[in-house]
Amino acid sequence: MHTQPRALDSRKWIFATGALTGAAIVLASLVILSPLTAARNDLRRAANPLSGQLAALRTTLLHFQIFLERNVDDIAPGTPPTPTELASGALLTQTQKDQATTVANGLRGMARSSDARALDAAMTALGAALDKMTPIAVGSFVPLATRARIVESERTALERLWNLTTALEKHLADDDTATDAAADDHLGRARTALLIAVGLDLLLVLGTAFVFGRRAGRQARARRLEVQRQAYEARLLRALEMTRTEPVVYDVIGESLHDSVRDLSVEMLIADSSRAHFRRALSNNGEFDGCGVVSPLDCPAAAGGQTLVFPSSGALDACPHLKDRPSGPCSAACLPVSIAGRTVGVTHAVGRDGIPPSETDLEALNFTSRRGSDRIAMLRAFATSETQARTDPLTGLLNRRSLEHRVRDLRREGTPYSLAYGDLDHFKILNDTYGHEAGDRALRLFSRVLRDSIRPNDIAARYGGEEFVIVLPDCGTDVAVGVLERVRERLTLALTAGHVPSFTVTFGVASTAYATEYDEIVAIADRALLDAKAAGRNRVVAAEFPGAGRQPIEQI
Ligand code: GH3
Ligand code: MG
Ligand code: MG
Repeated sequence: MHTQPRALDSRKWIFATGALTGAAIVLASLVILSPLTAARNDLRRAANPLSGQLAALRTTLLHFQIFLERNVDDIAPGTPPTPTELASGALLTQTQKDQATTVANGLRGMARSSDARALDAAMTALGAALDKMTPIAVGSFVPLATRARIVESERTALERLWNLTTALEKHLADDDTATDAAADDHLGRARTALLIAVGLDLLLVLGTAFVFGRRAGRQARARRLEVQRQAYEARLLRALEMTRTEPVVYDVIGESLHDSVRDLSVEMLIADSSRAHFRRALSNNGEFDGCGVVSPLDCPAAAGGQTLVFPSSGALDACPHLKDRPSGPCSAACLPVSIAGRTVGVTHAVGRDGIPPSETDLEALNFTSRRGSDRIAMLRAFATSETQARTDPLTGLLNRRSLEHRVRDLRREGTPYSLAYGDLDHFKILNDTYGHEAGDRALRLFSRVLRDSIRPNDIAARYGGEEFVIVLPDCGTDVAVGVLERVRERLTLALTAGHVPSFTVTFGVASTAYATEYDEIVAIADRALLDAKAAGRNRVVAAEFPGAGRQPIEQI
């Protein structure tokens, strides 16, 4: 839940940084571009005055030529022009001189000295030609042929000047165009650089956001999966903690595997108590045929104690038990199952051929079967310690405390019972003669005979030393005496094998018909036992009913 805002935060920072960088680029570009634009405009403006002055000079030249063309032919030899005409001519001559000087200076300013010199030379030539015309202008006699030559040379000088200014005008126009083009080019390049910088910034921002976004997405996905995994594990552990028997543990594991590895068919094979045969403890898929392996020794994963993954049953190194299955080719993973440190089974998972179970699947399989087997180990340890607390370690019979619990249950249920107090005869002599070991063997043999001679719901307990108490629910003393006689007979029979020195047993019998309290019944049976010992041992004696000197009326 906390992952998404974090991803958004980093993207927000990236976009903010990108926007700031973009703004900085635009600002820097404006700082660079505006002087460039201004310089370009200045250049344009700088070219204009000289062009204008040149145009004015050319206009003056044109006027002068018109003036001259109109007047020169009209002036008859010997006839001076009017003062007005002279003044006009002098004014135009002076004007074009001034203008030519200005333009020449401008050209020098632009480092076009050769053009300036050419203009000066053309003006000087024109001036010289005009000087030669002075006699004509003042009305002196000039032969016609000379006059024509002078006029002609003046026209040539004027024309040269006209052509020169035309060329200059063209040069200046070309210069302006070239300067404009260069400035525009500079400006264009600067603008392109700006666009590229902004574009790169945008690309950088988007690219970084994309990369960070993807990484943040991946991290968010991984965190989500981790949270799901932890939740699953916590649920599984809670469910397992509530189990009290092994079958229920297997049910929980099967159910959790059904949820956690939906694409796989899974079974758990556990060895029986002989460890020679597998039995299927669970499966997450009712239609799954499972592995045909019979013994843990034949299973490579269980025998080797390590997880094996087989991408395809058709591969050369696939487990032989995967080949030729009725369900067709498959992939598989086999994880050994250990209970209390011993490999006792295998978790066998099957998937589509060529697609082996993923790492996540393996983790789930491993975790689930491990936690399940841990729980089974714990339940077995509980059961063992419970049995140890309930039973006598030498004989495996119930101990005195457990006997009292069971009798209390009978009393609570209102179940009547007979109770026999047994004591091995002359056991001290047996111990002294054959040793304590032989005595222990005798105690174990008697206990086995006792267990084999009574019904499953009868209760046999070692009361202490070589003394035993047998409780026979729903059983009168006469029947109880019969059962105990059978015990004596079977003991004799068992002793004929000769592994244990011969001995006998004596029983005193009482029942709930004699007294209501358990302690009292024990005491009555004990007294009957003493009577039997006194009478010669190796026998069964039912207690006399108090005050009657005879057998009680049995309740059963
Ligand atoms: P009786 O026929 O009168 O009962 O004679 P007894 O010798 O059996 O009786 P006693 O009470 O004198 O001796 C009981 C003997 O049982 C003493 C002890 O050495 C032996 N005994 C008690 N518990 C064990 C045991 O756990 N192992 C062995 N080997 N002997 C035991
Ligand atoms: Mg005794
Ligand atoms: Mg004894």
